[in-house]
Amino acid sequence: MTRVTGATVGGVSSEISVLRLDFGYFVRPAEETGSTAPRVEPVLGYVVQHPKGTVLLDSGMGWHPDVDDHYRPRRIALPDALHAAGLAVEDLTAVVNCHLHFDHCGGNPSLTGLPIVVQEVELAAAHLPDYTLPELVDALGLTYEKASGDVEVFPGVTVIPTPGHTDGHQSVVVRRGDGSVIVLAGQSHDTATAYSADALALRASDDGHPPPLPVTPAWMRRLVDLNPSRVYFAPTTTPFGCRRNCFSGAQVSGTTRHHRSP
Ligand SMILES: [Zn+2]
Repeated sequence: MTRVTGATVGGVSSEISVLRLDFGYFVRPAEETGSTAPRVEPVLGYVVQHPKGTVLLDSGMGWHPDVDDHYRPRRIALPDALHAAGLAVEDLTAVVNCHLHFDHCGGNPSLTGLPIVVQEVELAAAHLPDYTLPELVDALGLTYEKASGDVEVFPGVTVIPTPGHTDGHQSVVVRRGDGSVIVLAGQSHDTATAYSADALALRASDDGHPPPLPVTPAWMRRLVDLNPSRVYFAPTTTPFGCRRNCFSGAQVSGTTRHHRSP
């Protein structure tokens, strides 16, 4: 089968591959963007294809009239997003929700019979008022595998806690056969730029740069030490892509980077 529209984001030459899923987008109103303009934000999921099975990270946007009035989403349902990647729900072996806000678990009701890995604290939070759309989380027949820390889904595919956006937020670390690491970081950061800023803050700290310096989440050290070749996020199509020391003027795409302006 030729995969036409599923964007392969990593692993084409290794036994573990990662695909990106397009769940559509919504329009964040101006009062939530910190500016005078609304912003269109993508909703992305990922699929990890491993010799032992296929893992889905996030299931798209849920539906509710109040949500739709506020965020004006244009959603692509989970079956359609999977189909575009050459997959179907029946191909899935396990599911991970980075967290349980409505725009990350919208397709959960169709994932009956599959283990759905969430942090225990996240599942508890999802039952608080106004946290999410509870009908998505509590749909009949769903099986949550409650985690309190790391969970190895398959060898080389590990869920790790990355709290911040929510207390129970988690990410997926994929270590491929060639030793390279891809991190599917969900909404640990809203942008690759924000991730880069945190990584640089750690570098400044390591350099003994004088305070004050930005405070970064404790788990950020762990992600940086994994030396990921790519970090992908749910709310942006732009990944962070950088090997260690890439901030120091390394060769980029065959040309020497010049530092003419800050
Ligand atoms: Zn969220």
